Amino acid sequence: MTSAKALLKIAAISVGLVGVLVLGVHLGGGRVQVDWPSLAFLQPASAAEASGAPDAMPLGRTPAAIVNGKYPASYFPNTELLGDDEMRITALGTGMPNLTRAAASISYLVELGNGDKFIFDIGSGSMSNLFSLRPDFSKLDKLFVSHLHVDHVGDFMGLHVGSWLSGRYEPIHVYGPTGSSPELGTQAFVDGMKAAYQWDIHSRTGALPDAGGQIEVHEFDFSQENEIVYQKNGVTIRSWPAIHILDGSVTYSLEWNGLKYVFGGDTYPNKWYMKYAKGADVASHECFLPPKALAKYFGWDMTQATFVSTRIHTEPQAFAKVMATLEPRLAVGYHTVQSPENNAAIMDEVLKIYDGPLAIARDLMVINVTKDNIEVRMAVVYDYVLPPDVTPGYIKAPRIAARNTPSKETMAGKWDGYTPPPMPKPPGK
Ligand SMILES: [Zn+2]
Ligand SMILES: [Zn+2]
Repeated sequence: MTSAKALLKIAAISVGLVGVLVLGVHLGGGRVQVDWPSLAFLQPASAAEASGAPDAMPLGRTPAAIVNGKYPASYFPNTELLGDDEMRITALGTGMPNLTRAAASISYLVELGNGDKFIFDIGSGSMSNLFSLRPDFSKLDKLFVSHLHVDHVGDFMGLHVGSWLSGRYEPIHVYGPTGSSPELGTQAFVDGMKAAYQWDIHSRTGALPDAGGQIEVHEFDFSQENEIVYQKNGVTIRSWPAIHILDGSVTYSLEWNGLKYVFGGDTYPNKWYMKYAKGADVASHECFLPPKALAKYFGWDMTQATFVSTRIHTEPQAFAKVMATLEPRLAVGYHTVQSPENNAAIMDEVLKIYDGPLAIARDLMVINVTKDNIEVRMAVVYDYVLPPDVTPGYIKAPRIAARNTPSKETMAGKWDGYTPPPMPKPPGK
């Protein structure tokens, strides 16, 4: 297949919409309002769906159902109801450890039509993309970690504390692999984070829901092959080993309702991926910069660049071979340096070998998956987005009645040139 033909095929995936949509976006009083004047295919959700259980939908949300598989050209967070049979995958970070404004480090959010939500990796900087979606953090309590590089776990405490502050009132559950020794595993990582952030956690205890401050670790054997690490509510998540510098890097698959998503993590092409990623609707796999572009980007010599790109990671041609053999409904490449010239370098290499459905992920790329359709779009978010509304459950969640304060000695240092306003009565008193 020629490059032009392949590009057409790629374009066909991302343009599943007939006609051109014009959306009015208004900025008023700091809030973004999106008008949907001519979107007749967006019907209001049924009352049951819209209201749900008292805790199901944070205050102020009015999402609408997608009718006949016709999606708006861009994804506006919290305006679309996910179909009962639908999966939505949002790239929260697609770049490198040296994150840029164009690309935070690796993270993906997976949302299912049954209401379940999962985060895969939480690399540095990815939290700002997660926050820009204004998610219901009471539902975001499951993190799956592929390995413990900073570009995959760097925002872990940002997620823990940020979500605790913004709606999560139950413990966060962290699933991740062992390493070759106990101190190189996920449990040791979380213990270390808790120890390092004692001051932070202690300072917030009492002000925030008690249970939300807890972290529950579910460590599993990195070497297990396609074993179940999570199974609940019709969702099965399995792991298998990846090949990446040290033992303790894994790939995950998530299966639900006849749909299968594979989150590759960091890996050299390996036999387990080829075996267990089979049948994936969406298969993601790293697709690193080719050696020449990597050498230029970091100022490395070709020996160093070739080693990193083709021995530690997966260069574009290797990614292309993997996907040409696997034939998923959509191949997603990521872990790139986002710039026009680097994307072009990656595409040139991939298209030499693979001409199937392809998306090279960018931050805030959104992939809707049903049995009949895969839609790839970009999310539109507001730079100064407000924190998400919290649920009644968060407001009512128990907090110990203790107010932290510095010592008497420190408090004696208050400047007498300022007197704060009187404290208002607490609500309901
Ligand atoms: Zn890594
Ligand atoms: Zn990485």
